Amino acid sequence: MREPLEPLQSWVEGANGPHGFGLNHLPYGAMRHQDTAHLCVRIGEMVLDLHAAAKDGLLDSLATEVQRACQQPVLNTLLALGSSAWIPLRELLTALLAEDSSGATKTRLDWFLHFVEHCEIVLPIAPRGYTDFYASIDHARRVGELFRPDAPLLPNYKHVPIAYNGRPSSVVAGGTAVRRPWGQTRPVGGAEQPGFEPAAALDYEAELAFVMGAGNELGSPIAIGEAREHVFGVALLNDWSARDIQAWEYQPLGPFLGKSFATSLSPWITPMAALEPFRVAARARAESDPLPLPYLADEGDEEEGALDIAIEVRISTMASRAAGLAPMLISHGNTRGLYWTAAQMVAHHTSNGCNLEPGDVLATGTVSGVERESAGCLLELTRNGTEPVTLPNGEERAWLQDGDEVTLAGWCERDGVAPVALEECVGRVWSSR
Ligand code: CA
Repeated sequence: MREPLEPLQSWVEGANGPHGFGLNHLPYGAMRHQDTAHLCVRIGEMVLDLHAAAKDGLLDSLATEVQRACQQPVLNTLLALGSSAWIPLRELLTALLAEDSSGATKTRLDWFLHFVEHCEIVLPIAPRGYTDFYASIDHARRVGELFRPDAPLLPNYKHVPIAYNGRPSSVVAGGTAVRRPWGQTRPVGGAEQPGFEPAAALDYEAELAFVMGAGNELGSPIAIGEAREHVFGVALLNDWSARDIQAWEYQPLGPFLGKSFATSLSPWITPMAALEPFRVAARARAESDPLPLPYLADEGDEEEGALDIAIEVRISTMASRAAGLAPMLISHGNTRGLYWTAAQMVAHHTSNGCNLEPGDVLATGTVSGVERESAGCLLELTRNGTEPVTLPNGEERAWLQDGDEVTLAGWCERDGVAPVALEECVGRVWSSR
């Protein structure tokens, strides 16, 4: 762990406090502006319009290409420039928004600050790739127990970071309603034909997404020791999953339509720089576990390659909202228990020469822990729908029903450091019946 840093104070009203969006955070988003979007950065309950600030000359001390990148509708151009672009940008924004900024600067910046509740926030990245890993060994083991009680973990698990290629076109900003998908399901009751109907076994998966920076050329793997600087930031991700569609289609090639109907990504990207104080040692491997192959092994990564991010899942239903209840907590996990680190995912993804591109999304897979209450999806919590959970308001759920709204929240805290809150990732299920 790094030494605690003095919490930074900002002159922006309401920016200093325990809300997790202080000057030490500064996540990036994009705000709808006429028929396009302006990149922006969040401070407390305010949003700084980066596009307008750059146009006004407030970013003039940065390289021209960085100023131009700030005037694009998505972060991809900035990400392509690499950390030598986004580190000075963050330093400048921190200085501009800091308490000791000059009066003249504050007056100029004030023009470009808006209340977040007055802005329509959209996804600040246009991912061309989305890969979903399976990095939680506790998730892998608990899911494995449901289907292969004798050998829950497959023999490859501790050697290779398992993943599938997801669908970037259906990655949507958190807050977007999620349509219950129709799909083929296993024939039941002696039927000859499979069904084709709205998925009955709709589930969520609580995950952390890593957003890639410059990426790599096709044919040039990223070494594990360099992988960290290739990751720009993180956001919460909900990998919605239709278990009944998935169960019928996944053999032999893996998930397809059971997952590609929607993936919700929180629209504020937290830069890795804001998470430095919350780096922790990678999960220790058991003595009996195999050592990772050399291309997945790095001392620095073992020492601080994991992140201490608590993740909570809350649910609200039509009934709970009608009763005026706040969203109800159903599970809570932490990314520090993952078996594979972000650097290992990047190194593995590119180890065959595959190219990662700016804005690509690499997700951890469901974040679960050893305890049942830290299970990050209903598949685990309800043992594949056979043991429904009772919600705090008395309702039962085996799977999600229409009108259910799932909220993922992420939180980092540590003594002596201002906390960082990951923007919530919200999605409500609607039916197309
Ligand atoms: Ca997943």
